[in-house]
Amino acid sequence: MKVAVFSTHKFEKDFLLRAAKGKHELILLEPQLSLTTAGLAEACNAVCIFVNDDGSKDVLKKISAIGIRYLVLRSAGFNHVDIKAAYELGMRAARVPEYSPYAVAEHTIALMLALNRKLVLAHNRIRDLNFSLNGLTGFDMHGKTAGIIGTGKIGRIVAEILHGFGCRIMAYDIMPDNDWASKYGVVYTGIDNLCSQSDIITLHAPLTEQTRYIINRDRIAKMKKGVMMINTSRGALVNTKDVIASLKSGQIGYLGLDVYEEERGLFFEDHSSDILQDDIIARLMTFSNVLITSHQAFLTDTALYNIAETTITNLDCFENKTACKNELKP
Ligand code: NAD
Repeated sequence: MKVAVFSTHKFEKDFLLRAAKGKHELILLEPQLSLTTAGLAEACNAVCIFVNDDGSKDVLKKISAIGIRYLVLRSAGFNHVDIKAAYELGMRAARVPEYSPYAVAEHTIALMLALNRKLVLAHNRIRDLNFSLNGLTGFDMHGKTAGIIGTGKIGRIVAEILHGFGCRIMAYDIMPDNDWASKYGVVYTGIDNLCSQSDIITLHAPLTEQTRYIINRDRIAKMKKGVMMINTSRGALVNTKDVIASLKSGQIGYLGLDVYEEERGLFFEDHSSDILQDDIIARLMTFSNVLITSHQAFLTDTALYNIAETTITNLDCFENKTACKNELKP
């Protein structure tokens, strides 16, 4: 099958080519899929996209019109694709539902520890030959209450690691798993109670109409003053403007973000020679208690290998017209 692979990054090329084993002709394209770039898929049978490509109805219509029948996502999240529209256009779509929940969970913990122990500040100081410890005081994770919002594949691993740290763990999920929870002393509760009791809150729910801005001004007001909040899930779970106001007041004491609601066009790219146009992220970057990474929580060799292998398996199923266990249906 001839596949237009949009948003191809240097770090994943070898993994994709190795997994394809010459079975599929991969056209590795750097641009993101959008209305303007859709034409690059001309003469292909399938399009392969990543998290910040545009999978809206108009774009799908355009690629359908040039003959694309298959859409394969190199991601678990699919909130950026209009699956109903794809289905109506007769296009089969599939994702990589799981590639390494450990990668994302471990990065979540890395953000917590780096913020708590002020590792970035300490590193920068030492490069200036400033070996003072003033201002670097952290807190013991042991004994603190961690609130996990979403206890699916990633949230559970985060909870299990934090259990190992000796944290008390509270969780909120619309589909609680009490058997799992009892093994790690996890207590399911309502979201507002979780917010009011937790020292650390970490988000692991998908972006849906119910979870959009699940963290907003009202909910932040219920949190403990100085709470640590981490989001490695999807940017729009958090109302960023409300979070900035809470950072200014000290209500949020630490913020770790691997995702940002306006990350499309910004994250994954080198903008070091550009003028930053996004005033919200510019403000976020001024806080010394905010740590931002550029949607890299998934980025381990294990995850890249698994993403590539599953993507190629999905293409194999589509080419052979067989059932695909990772198929997305409306
Ligand atoms: P998952 O589907 O295994 O788990 C999600 C959990 O959220 C489920 O238990 C579900 O019941 C729960 N949930 C759904 N709606 C909810 C709601 N309204 N309130 C509370 N809980 C709700 O997903 P996962 O693989 O654990 O992924 C979690 C998040 O991480 C997703 O947003 C995904 O897009 C994101 N993610 C980020 C990266 C990254 O690199 N930063 C990589 C992979 C996944």
